[in-house]
Amino acid sequence: MINIAIDGPSGAGKSTIAKSIAARKKITYLDTGAMYRAVGLKVYLTNSDMYDENQLSNILDNLDLDIKYVNGEQKVFLDGKDVSKDIREHHISKLASDVSAIPACRLKLVDLQRRIAEKSDCVLDGRDIGTYVLPDANVKIFLTASPEVRATRRYKELLAKGQKVEYDKVLSDINERDKNDSSRAFAPLKKADDAVEIDSSDMTIEQVIAVIDEILSQKGVF
Ligand code: C5P
Repeated sequence: MINIAIDGPSGAGKSTIAKSIAARKKITYLDTGAMYRAVGLKVYLTNSDMYDENQLSNILDNLDLDIKYVNGEQKVFLDGKDVSKDIREHHISKLASDVSAIPACRLKLVDLQRRIAEKSDCVLDGRDIGTYVLPDANVKIFLTASPEVRATRRYKELLAKGQKVEYDKVLSDINERDKNDSSRAFAPLKKADDAVEIDSSDMTIEQVIAVIDEILSQKGVF
């Protein structure tokens, strides 16, 4: 199977790039952040204390999480309900980041991710795909951008979706999530030694895609 890992901090453009690769190369796109978001949403909906071992294992043991593809678009179903929009709410981001730092949650989701990657050619975006989930991925990209550029992109995205947020709050949340994601003990956000780093701060999406296409063809993947 061909596995392409795209890691990096929030708002670096990973999902846009991964979706484009998946659509053009006709392979599966797996947005692993959406899985952590779904667990964060479940914590929120059930008003659970994620730091209470029993409550968290109750959520993880009974997790009814499904990733389906509708017209090529990834949809996330939690307990049979399409929650693709709900998991993108701004307040769920922090919960997703907090719950993702808990090893039991990571072990459960990493297992699901590896099973999907074993079965199909796919491009996965996340934080630890190249370092932990798929250390033998064919191609590893570490996509970054400055916090200000990432906050501006996220701010515009949220506004376009009709969510009311302040730019300063988006920036401080991004900085906090970066810190959370990079400093956790288990499988933190980190560039794999053999990943190619791309700083997209001053690049358009098209430019980033062109660079990645070049890397893919150099590696003989497509
Ligand atoms: O990518 P996205 O912002 O949707 O991810 C939500 C959160 O899930 C991240 O802030 C991060 O804490 C966590 N995550 C992770 N490992 C991944 C993907 C996401 O810890 N592979």
